[in-house]
Amino acid sequence: MSEERGRAGQHLPEASYVLPATAAPSAAVAGERGRFPVRRIYCVGQNYASHAREMGTDPKREPPFFFTKPATALLADQGRLPYPPRTQNLHHEVELVVALKTGGRRIALARALEHVYGYAVGNDFTRRDLQAAAKETGRPWDVAKGFDHSAALGPITPVARLGHAARGAIWLTVNGLEKQRADLDDMTWSVAEVIAELSTYFELAPGDLIYTGTPAGVGPVVAGDVLVGGIEGLGTLTTVVAPAE
Ligand code: MN
Repeated sequence: MSEERGRAGQHLPEASYVLPATAAPSAAVAGERGRFPVRRIYCVGQNYASHAREMGTDPKREPPFFFTKPATALLADQGRLPYPPRTQNLHHEVELVVALKTGGRRIALARALEHVYGYAVGNDFTRRDLQAAAKETGRPWDVAKGFDHSAALGPITPVARLGHAARGAIWLTVNGLEKQRADLDDMTWSVAEVIAELSTYFELAPGDLIYTGTPAGVGPVVAGDVLVGGIEGLGTLTTVVAPAE
């Protein structure tokens, strides 16, 4: 039933293709040779009151809202992000990323964390000018959020090694200067709450990633910038912004 439906986009290993099949996206796991197979990338909008305020939004506790990025947008640690086209205002957003080992629909809050494989540092790169235009016109966010290399992701640290990431510092520097700093417990919606709510919209599955929102301090980057994001216990994520291609 749902097991079959959840795999609708996948094919048996012996399937043949009319074009070379694209390799499935995956992510590094800290301390493991095996990689984490990435299925979907979900993102939470405005999950820290401080960031909601800087974006001109009332930070009261409304239900979290979601958008997605294609899994092919992943960019590994030490990755190079060519300055993307059609923007003059590329922004960084350091975020805690949740990696799921199991999924389901309408997941109970009390059991939500049982589905987590691990956590990582992420950067939800955003074409802020295109996002502002989309908000103004009520158009979709895809071009603002889902562009190539827009989902930077550090190695995933398994829960089995470090437990759940509920508190601890989250920060980001650009060329060594601190731009963002907060604590994970500043999040408006906890990881468990995000999983429970998201699973009322989508059937979650093994391999899904959830970018859980960014704290205040987002800002523009330019070619040549070196960004280092970090979360206490989860290491760092370095991204180099390269010239436009
Ligand atoms: Mn974000």
